[in-house]
Amino acid sequence: MKTVSSLLDDHWHERYKKISRLSIRSSIYDVTNRCNLRCKGCFFFSSDEHMVAPEEMDIHEWEAFVDREIARGVNLAILIGGEPTLCLDRVEAFYKRLPTFCATNGLIRVPRDRFPNMMVGISLWGDETDELVLRGKDAFSISSKNYAGDPYAYYLYTVTPKQIGKTERIIRKIRDAGLKVHLQLLSNDEGVSGFTWTAQELADIQDEMDAMLDAYPDTMISSKYYHKIITTGKMQGRSFGWMECPSVTQPLDRRNPVPKRLINFIRWASDLKTMHRCCTSETRDCTTCKDGAAHMSWVMVNKRAHMGSTKDLQNWIEVYEMFAKLYQFLPW
Ligand code: SF4
Ligand code: SF4
Repeated sequence: MKTVSSLLDDHWHERYKKISRLSIRSSIYDVTNRCNLRCKGCFFFSSDEHMVAPEEMDIHEWEAFVDREIARGVNLAILIGGEPTLCLDRVEAFYKRLPTFCATNGLIRVPRDRFPNMMVGISLWGDETDELVLRGKDAFSISSKNYAGDPYAYYLYTVTPKQIGKTERIIRKIRDAGLKVHLQLLSNDEGVSGFTWTAQELADIQDEMDAMLDAYPDTMISSKYYHKIITTGKMQGRSFGWMECPSVTQPLDRRNPVPKRLINFIRWASDLKTMHRCCTSETRDCTTCKDGAAHMSWVMVNKRAHMGSTKDLQNWIEVYEMFAKLYQFLPW
C-alpha cells in the first residue's frame, strides 16, 4: 500500500493536511414544503416529497431539533426545501447554532444583517430561455440583482443538454455580477422533452466544463476530475448508482454490503421526524442520477481507491477542496 507521503510533494502534502484536519459531518434539512417557483424537474415536488409530512410550525421545536442534531455530531447543516427563504426564522434556528448552508432560488434576498456570513447557493437552470421553459421565470435576472457582489453567495448552475456551447456567456454574467459558480447537471426527473442527456452530450459538456475551468479559474469552483466523474458516472472502474451512493440516509440504509458512505448522514423532512431516502429525490432512478453533491461525496469517502498514484490522490484532494470551499470549510 502506498502512503500519502510517498505520493505527494511538499505543496500537495500541505494541501492534503489542510483537508485531512476537516471532519465534515453534514445532513440535509427540508426547511419547508413550499416554494415560490415550481420548476419542471424539481426533485422535491416531482417525487411528492412535499406531501410526505406536514411542516413543523413551532419555532421552538426547530431550535430543540437543531440542538439534537448538533449532539448527534452534525457540523454542517444544508438547508433545502422547498424554498428556505420563505421561513427565515427556521433558517435562523440553524444559523445561530451551527455552520449552515442555504440553497435558494434567489428570488428573496437573505437579509445580511441577520445572516452576515451564511453561505448561499443560488440555483440557476440554464440561460433565460431554459429558465422560462423549466421554471416559468428568468430567475437569474432577479437573483443576480439580489446577490451581486455578495462574498458569501455563489451560483449552483444546473447545466442542461441545451446549454452545450452556451455556458460561457452565463459564466461571464456570473463573473460580472461579482459571484462564483459551481456546475452540476440536470437529472431531468420529469422527463421534459429534449432535456435528457445522451452519451455524446455528456462527453461534449465534460470538454466544455474543462475549458470553462481553464478560462475562468477565479469564477468557477470546480475540478476536472469532478467533471469526469459527474459526466461519466465512473470512478476507478466503478459505476455510480444505488450500491455505491454515499448520500443515503443512514438509519434507512439496508444495503449489503454497505458501501463507503457519509457518516450519520440523514435527510430530514420538515416535520423533523420523517427521513427521506437520500440527498435527492425519493423516486429518482439511481442509474440516471446526476446529483453533484452525491458524486463529490462519492469521491471523498473513497480516499483509499485514490491511493494508487500521485495523480489519483491529487484528483481526490481537488474534489475534497472543492466541496470544502462550497461549504465554507476552506476559503475560495
Ligand atoms: S426553486 Fe428549487 S425547490 Fe423550488 S421548485 Fe425550483 S427546484 Fe424546486
Ligand atoms: S437518487 Fe442519487 S442520491 Fe439518491 S440514492 Fe440514488 S444515486 Fe444516491
